[in-house]
Amino acid sequence: MINKQLKLILVSTPIGYLGSGKGGGVELTIVSLIKGLISLGHKIILIAPKGSKLSFESELLEIRLIDGIDQPSWQHQKKTDPVLIPSNSVLPKLWEDVIDIANESDAVINFAYDWLPLWLTKTQAIKIFHLISMGAESIIMKEIISEISELFPFQLAFHTKRQSKDYSLKTDPIIVGNGFDIQNYLFNENENGPLGWAGRIAPEKGLEDAVQVANYLGEKLLVWGLIEDKEYALKIENTFKKEIVEWRGFLPTNQFQEQLGRCRALINTPKWNEAYGNVIVEAMACGVPVIAYDLGGPGELIEDGFNGFLVKPNDIGGLIKATKSISEIKRKNCRDWFEKKATNKVFAERVENWLDKGLNKKISTDFQD
Ligand code: UDP
Repeated sequence: MINKQLKLILVSTPIGYLGSGKGGGVELTIVSLIKGLISLGHKIILIAPKGSKLSFESELLEIRLIDGIDQPSWQHQKKTDPVLIPSNSVLPKLWEDVIDIANESDAVINFAYDWLPLWLTKTQAIKIFHLISMGAESIIMKEIISEISELFPFQLAFHTKRQSKDYSLKTDPIIVGNGFDIQNYLFNENENGPLGWAGRIAPEKGLEDAVQVANYLGEKLLVWGLIEDKEYALKIENTFKKEIVEWRGFLPTNQFQEQLGRCRALINTPKWNEAYGNVIVEAMACGVPVIAYDLGGPGELIEDGFNGFLVKPNDIGGLIKATKSISEIKRKNCRDWFEKKATNKVFAERVENWLDKGLNKKISTDFQD
């Protein structure tokens, strides 16, 4: 625990404004953490792309909006691609603003999965902390993260151990998990609802596998999320009968959780090393058990047989078997797991411990429990 009020600058993702959905899970992570850190009494300056909106205000929060062109995501580039900065890019502009005001702060927390902020850590006197939000999607990102882990090991943190294993780190990784505002998620007891799937509609999220399960069982699959890859979404529509997939769109959290909470199970089928998997924990917060591939973050969030089931990656038969057994999972277990491990309060406390180590350079790296 830190006994004094910290002045923190949080720098948002340059992929899209907060609320656009383009930033994926990072958007909710930032908003949840801001609320959590404010509840611990810290002062926050959020620097974010123009258009970003938060659903709450606080006298401990200042927002600075920066105009510029969105940064392309590393997710959809080749591993060997070089660093790319578009003309009039928002990324360097966000960091020019950080540098302008940084001497008024105790620390800066970066949420961009991008090369520039990591590189700046070496060249600026300010303490820049990085919450790494993806597995290793590019060689140059892997290299810079490895370098920063050697120079400033306490200024890097990861969501899960499995995510961190993608990187060559010089010390044990700091794991902070993730967290969500408990007031935003209502527990729903109903065990007899439909099947659901949520996430960006893009190949690495593997929607087609969940659709296969619903198709086999002859039921509908409710799907929430931003259509990032239109061709991919169309291919799914054309492969299965129209009535199998019910597209629900990209909803704000209050509506999303209300609809998600009515499901009897969420099916999560990533094809990549999912860093965390926000939607898994959001489902559990509503009491919805999750059936997921045992790949990346989901393997650390789901305790097989307690709050859901883990299935071998790409094993459709395994998903079907788990779906048929879902009534064995008590919905209350899911909510309990969330309340214990993943509220934004416990997340903010883990982040506070991380900052404390980084600012004071003490040696201990396990923050998960
Ligand atoms: N989400 C949302 N509305 C929806 C569907 C999804 O706000 O209708 C959000 C969800 O709350 C989560 C994010 O989309 O924060 C997806 O994040 P996740 O970590 O599951 O995957 P990512 O997109 O980061 O790979």
